[in-house]
Amino acid sequence: MTDIVVVGSGFFGLTVAERLAEQYGAKVMIIDRRPHLGGNAYSEPEPETGIEVHTYGTHLFHTSNERVWEYVNRFTDFTPYVHRVYTTHKGEVFPMPINLGTINQFFRSAYGPEQAKALIREQAAELGGKEPENLDEQGVNLIGRPLYEAFIKGYTAKQWQTDPKDLPASIISRLPVRYTYDNRYFNDTYEGLPVDGYAAWLERMADHPNIEVRLSTDFFDTTQPINKDAIVGKIPVVYTGPVDRYFDYSQGALSWRTIDFEQEVLPIGDFQGTGVMNYADEDAPYTRILEFRHLHPERDYPTDKTVVVKEYSRFAEEGDEPYYPVNTPEDREKLTAYRELMSGEKDVFFGGRLGTYQYLDMHMAIGSALSMVDNKLAPLFGGAAEEPR
Ligand code: FAD
Ligand code: UDP
Repeated sequence: MTDIVVVGSGFFGLTVAERLAEQYGAKVMIIDRRPHLGGNAYSEPEPETGIEVHTYGTHLFHTSNERVWEYVNRFTDFTPYVHRVYTTHKGEVFPMPINLGTINQFFRSAYGPEQAKALIREQAAELGGKEPENLDEQGVNLIGRPLYEAFIKGYTAKQWQTDPKDLPASIISRLPVRYTYDNRYFNDTYEGLPVDGYAAWLERMADHPNIEVRLSTDFFDTTQPINKDAIVGKIPVVYTGPVDRYFDYSQGALSWRTIDFEQEVLPIGDFQGTGVMNYADEDAPYTRILEFRHLHPERDYPTDKTVVVKEYSRFAEEGDEPYYPVNTPEDREKLTAYRELMSGEKDVFFGGRLGTYQYLDMHMAIGSALSMVDNKLAPLFGGAAEEPR
């Protein structure tokens, strides 16, 4: 007997399933339409080289949330890897995110922090102190127009193919700007990569006698028994697939970005000397090149071969994997209508990146799954609802 069905085996679904099985003794069935567990965080060794490739783009784990850090450490140890990114602009390589090194290299200057801040403040003055309302204004506000046009505008045009004035400011609020030479990509307290890889971590989360996993099983396929028509209303469901798909696109399709990953094995030991190289200009058709060997310098990888992946971003069409919610004003209107429908679905709990149409990093997906268990799911299994955090 199954007590609850979890649709989607990404970090959100796995966290819910693991907690309900372990903490509340629930019998959980996880289904996923892909042939593997783990959603977008999945990884596997490239067969020719053994180099671990993150199938859906580099996944760097980072968090400042103590509860999430304690939780994930039950399933894996982390390497001391610290993520750093570089970007190529007009044939020259600069450190990202924008820091004092980027600023001085770009302006061919030797400013100290205060001088650099004064310069950027002057260049950002065109907004006249107004609160930035979209990505374009936020970019100019954070770093001034010259740096925005060099490092953000072209990259964002390739990544989103949407006028930056129609994109939410929040997309680049995540990118820190630093007036020191610190070029760590993330600001979080904890950071690292799972020592044995993502697949091992994800499998350990599902390895519980109360959890059954069915792969290659689509929730909307009525020829298999665990489908929407057959179970909604009869058994609780946690749904982490796309919210518009759940309601048969009745309020219109939400817009998503997808990425084409072009993978090659090259007959050299090192292609670019770092894990991620962004390409800021529009003349390079890809947004970035990933070289996976650099994510695990501690591993014994072959020294005469390397794996590189170019990322090309485009609008997701029917049949494509939805990766990034675009979140235009029209999307937000549709989402409001979908939220109305969601609240009418009895015992269906929508979560995760696709189920809530929200950009969520892994630690955020895990954190919000833990909260959903505390606040909404525990009461179904005899647990007291905890105070909202
Ligand atoms: P997902 O991992 O997307 O899982 C959803 C699952 O639902 C999928 O397995 C899907 O197959 C399944 N599903 C969908 N529809 C159905 C259906 N009809 N029937 C059955 N199953 C279904 N986060 C970080 O913290 N650091 C990073 O560096 C990072 N890099 C990223 C890079 C890229 C290119 C992308 C796309 C994401 C990145 N993320 C990163 C985010 C990370 O992937 C997500 O936080 C995480 O995957 C969220 O988990 P989730 O469970 O919400 O969704
Ligand atoms: N961005 C940019 N230039 C860069 C890196 C990022 O303009 O070199 C912008 C771009 O709009 C991107 C956003 O910042 O979508 C967030 O970038 P991040 O690398 O955090 O996101 P990811 O693509 O890894 O999810």
